[in-house]
Amino acid sequence: MKVGFLSLGCKVNYYETEKMKQQFEEAGYQVVSFEEKADIYIINTCTVTNIADRKSRKMLHRARRNNQDAIVVAAGCYVDSAGKKMDDIGNSREKAGVEAELHTFVDLFVPNAEKDKLLEKVGKLQRERCAAVLASGTGKEEDVKKHTRAYIKVQDGCSQYCTYCIIPYVRGPLKSRAAEDVVKEAGQLAAEGVREVVITGIHLSSYGMDFTDKKSFTDLQGKPLLGLLSAVSQVEGIARIRLGSLEPRIITEGFVKELCRIPKVCPHFHLSLQSGCDATLRRMNRHYTTEEYLDCVQLLREYFTAPAITTDVIAGFPQETREEFEKTCDFVQRAAFSQMHVFKYSRRHGTMADAMEGQVSEQVKAERSSRLIAVGQGLEKRYQEGLYGTEEEVLFEEIVQIGGVNYLAGYSERYVRTAVKADGIYKAERLCNAVADVRITGRLTEEILTGELK
Ligand code: SF4
Repeated sequence: MKVGFLSLGCKVNYYETEKMKQQFEEAGYQVVSFEEKADIYIINTCTVTNIADRKSRKMLHRARRNNQDAIVVAAGCYVDSAGKKMDDIGNSREKAGVEAELHTFVDLFVPNAEKDKLLEKVGKLQRERCAAVLASGTGKEEDVKKHTRAYIKVQDGCSQYCTYCIIPYVRGPLKSRAAEDVVKEAGQLAAEGVREVVITGIHLSSYGMDFTDKKSFTDLQGKPLLGLLSAVSQVEGIARIRLGSLEPRIITEGFVKELCRIPKVCPHFHLSLQSGCDATLRRMNRHYTTEEYLDCVQLLREYFTAPAITTDVIAGFPQETREEFEKTCDFVQRAAFSQMHVFKYSRRHGTMADAMEGQVSEQVKAERSSRLIAVGQGLEKRYQEGLYGTEEEVLFEEIVQIGGVNYLAGYSERYVRTAVKADGIYKAERLCNAVADVRITGRLTEEILTGELK
């Protein structure tokens, strides 16, 4: 799901919008420019003057024009002031004029006091819309797709203090959701038709630390998370559980042994690397070495068959020399990732890395990032080709047309987009939102593998 943000007014609004973006990204949304066509638009409004009010309305209108079907959200000060105006005039829409008109093109109003619940509110509205579509039987394929996979945030906060990251400063302390609460949400999602849940958190590996007297998440040995996954795995209707980003240090032999015993956990692990150079990792305050990271990858490959190991890498961290960058390029090849997300280092005010000497120029960052992206694409292709001839469980989501032919498409448990010919439309529709075995035979497009239904 794509979400576009726009911030109006003061610095506090800009700061809060950044925080919202992080929350949405953590929950698996793709943040796009406000000008792009998105599924959701969030405008953090301002009301300091009449002109600010007018601009807030104008931008809300623009969001609606960008995509008639999008969810348009008005958040912040103008919501408070418009709400107050409505209250003052006894909620008379006739008298309220432009404020009343807002209801015709805005789907959700989130006042300042409720901004921290924005993600939750948007998720709820999305689910309500999907449920309405299903109940009416008028769902288009896109609607079914939205139903297949859902994200569940189980933890907030982080106390790792990576030197490039602002999150530990802007979020409160570690806070984990009770397992019963998460299981309940998984049950509700299953009832709405969701078949796959993605368990996410700001620092998922710290899940449950606040329930104990442990000082470090490594002391936990991932036990609370394992307990949570076992519980979610028992929810009827949920076919698969995918894990969000994990800190490499949670991957011990004991943890992996237990993890592979939990049914429904997908063999897809996102282990944030950030750099393949030990000196850079130290400057980043990441608490592992590249050799330790490789041991984790090795363990996952011992206990799971051909697991997809995906990662994030930062290009152009302060003081990153050419040699250090080359080490990262070599390392990612050794780790043989199935997919890499490459980010150019971006300065965040208030972090230690922002104050470091030796910032890398934008041009060098761009060159290094392009090179890493190319390496990542090669690795991805190689991993996918290794799946030819194997059997994959695919959760089908939608019917797509490629080259004039209908295909049933979805994601395999290893998160590889896979499509099979949708011969009989009845059979194809029946398989939407269902898991089926596919023997992979080759590539359909750059991004999609193809195969035969077993
Ligand atoms: S682990 Fe590091 S990068 Fe991740 S949220 Fe915590 S401080 Fe930020």
